[in-house]
Amino acid sequence: MKPPRRFRYVPMCSQPGCDQPAVYKVAAVWSDGTSRELKNYGLACSAHAEPQTARAKRNRDLLKLQDWETVGEVRLYRFDPDLLDVDLECVSDGPDALDAP
Ligand SMILES: [Zn+2]
Repeated sequence: MKPPRRFRYVPMCSQPGCDQPAVYKVAAVWSDGTSRELKNYGLACSAHAEPQTARAKRNRDLLKLQDWETVGEVRLYRFDPDLLDVDLECVSDGPDALDAP
């Protein structure tokens, strides 16, 4: 017996004009020194992962942080609506510590 199907909202790519379902979450790890969470910069289909990542990096660089806050590199995470942010799989393979402009 299968459980009844629930209606599920399908998140879409954040790229203007794109109507594809999101495959990736664009996010950076934010921390206030005690807790960590993903700061969400948008969702992307496979075609728009690059422009969405570039946009997210610009937004991240504009972010004003308090002294106790840190934000890591913008990364792509494999989007899964069934998982919590902290359980999403990071699929970026870029350098970890580099913070090039
Ligand atoms: Zn897209």
